[in-house]
Amino acid sequence: MKSWPGTVVPTLAQERVLPVLELTDSKSLKIQDVKVKDVYRMYVCGITPYDATHLGHAATYLTFDLINRYLRAQGSTVKYVQNITDIDDPLLERAKRDKVDWQELALSQIDLFRSDMVNLRILPPDHYIGAVEAIDLVTQSISALQEAGSIYPIDNDLYFKNYSSSEFGKLSHLNKAEMAKIFSERGGDPTLTGKIDPLDCLVWMAKREGEPGWPSIHGLGRPGWHIECTAIALKYLQPLADEQTCIDIQGGGSDLIFPHHEMCASQARVITGKELAEHYVHSAMIGLDGEKMSKSKGNLVFVSTLVNSGVDPMAIRFALMSDHYRNDRMWSQAVLELAQNRIALIKQAIMSKNCAPTETVISEIINWLAQDLNTSNALNSVDLWAAATLAGANGGDKQELLTTLDALLGLSF
Ligand code: ZN
Repeated sequence: MKSWPGTVVPTLAQERVLPVLELTDSKSLKIQDVKVKDVYRMYVCGITPYDATHLGHAATYLTFDLINRYLRAQGSTVKYVQNITDIDDPLLERAKRDKVDWQELALSQIDLFRSDMVNLRILPPDHYIGAVEAIDLVTQSISALQEAGSIYPIDNDLYFKNYSSSEFGKLSHLNKAEMAKIFSERGGDPTLTGKIDPLDCLVWMAKREGEPGWPSIHGLGRPGWHIECTAIALKYLQPLADEQTCIDIQGGGSDLIFPHHEMCASQARVITGKELAEHYVHSAMIGLDGEKMSKSKGNLVFVSTLVNSGVDPMAIRFALMSDHYRNDRMWSQAVLELAQNRIALIKQAIMSKNCAPTETVISEIINWLAQDLNTSNALNSVDLWAAATLAGANGGDKQELLTTLDALLGLSF
């Protein structure tokens, strides 16, 4: 699948040595150092293309964009892969409800997603892979699980025994009853007759009447969601023999911790004998005006709607960065307006002939980002610099600050 065009990321001054990035890990529940390496491998779960791109999506991809930018700025290469679940029940259900072709719906939403990512200045993945184009990979991964004795049929569907890995459950920290409840709420089928364990997950769904299917060694059908990401991650970010984990960073929204990432991790351990990721990183949820934002409530706010109404995408980016990625937080007109007002002052400072000293603000942006992506404090430092500039202070290197804002925060004014 075609990715979206990226922007050229400026390079920070060579003498700047960035502190080691620290990120909260969902498995250990600790803030951990992302130890310095030449090459990182990062996999971030992509959208199911039927309602792109709401602000929750935007916040998630922004979080991993900040990680991507920081690791690049320290001089490393980031191999970044993202999937698109371009065949799954929610897509087919939406297409049926709206009486549109599911493929057309998917393509139109993927196009919209791409343009939203460009507008928000999110750097593109190196490989942007759709589930449909990954069907061969998925069937190979299912075969590997089969050889390990972890697959069984129910009718013509195939299921994976999540407890084949003794570590199952250690990412989400949920007990079995909690897992079953959430599994059911998020598209799982814990009560299905024929399952060995309620938490086993579908990896291959035999073709249903009126639904698409693809021929494979496992019969005519389509992939389950979790195995799709496992297969794509392992193929495009191949585990290195001398590393203890398959990849460095597995990412997504916090609603993916269970069942999705827990089940992907279980599958990867059975296939490779290794932990899937060194760091499991999750971005919190975005609500609207005091309520959870969700498709069932019908209160999703879309990036394209805001942009089409004249909102500067940089104001959306700024507003989403004004609180910490790990905080569930609210979106509102007031949040947006505050970001717009702050940007106006920063722009005014940038336009000033002289600007306040920039050394402190630049090092604070870097240091706050290193501390588990504390964008809120980083942006507060920029506000203070703008206020000092507008109060008449001078002696700063404006160009170096602009480079830092672009390279690390993705802000371009
Ligand atoms: Zn995924």
